[in-house]
Amino acid sequence: MSLLVLEEIETFYGASQALFGVSLAVGEGEVVALMGRNGMGKTTTIRSILGLTPARAGRIAFGGKAVTSLLPHRIARLGIGLVPEGRRCFANLTVEENLLASARRGAWTLAKVVDLFPRLGERLGQYADTLSGGEQQMLAIGRALMTNPKLLILDEATEGLAPVIRQDIWAAIRRLKAEGESILVVDKTLSELLPLTDRCCVLEKGRTVFSGPPQAFTRDLQDRYLGV
Ligand code: ATP
Repeated sequence: MSLLVLEEIETFYGASQALFGVSLAVGEGEVVALMGRNGMGKTTTIRSILGLTPARAGRIAFGGKAVTSLLPHRIARLGIGLVPEGRRCFANLTVEENLLASARRGAWTLAKVVDLFPRLGERLGQYADTLSGGEQQMLAIGRALMTNPKLLILDEATEGLAPVIRQDIWAAIRRLKAEGESILVVDKTLSELLPLTDRCCVLEKGRTVFSGPPQAFTRDLQDRYLGV
């Protein structure tokens, strides 16, 4: 069964339409890549899923329940953990306090997050604003995991990070997949993303223009929809 289903959603910012029929599904334990050039609607799709910019048409279901008209905190509470673009942690709390502040019951505990990101373990007492960008990203992912979400959404989690740190983040995502987590990933690093994704969904000008397994997302299609 699909954990998350979007059917032909349409989303607006005021009078300006950003999504014109986006369809996408994430099954249990699947990693789905949401791709497209800048401004094609990836972040808006995520905002629609979370009810931050609610879809005006179409249907969004999570865990078999229609969520299209629910408020954001209700949707999040159903079990969606977002790692937003540009990370966001509490700067004046320590790493440990940041992690514990979002904790909800489940398999993901402080110990498990530290096992995934040992660098965080070495910095538990440090204030979040003293971390490097990459460490803040790890903290943002750790915070989302501490909510024990059924679905994790990563919006540009590796953008702007040093190569070594990006590798650590990708290794963590691969491990999350191996552990059966369901993940929706927005990222531009195809070489890392494609091998670990079960399905790709590509947006162009607010429409789903490709949906299928990574093997079917050929070089031609990549050039057409992601090339500059
Ligand atoms: P990026 O990779 O640059 O984040 P994206 O694929 O996530 O791009 P969106 O941010 O979803 O794209 O933008 C989709 C469209 O909606 C764009 O045309 C953008 O200009 C428009 N848009 C985004 N946010 C707003 C806003 N707050 N108000 C009005 N229009 C917006």
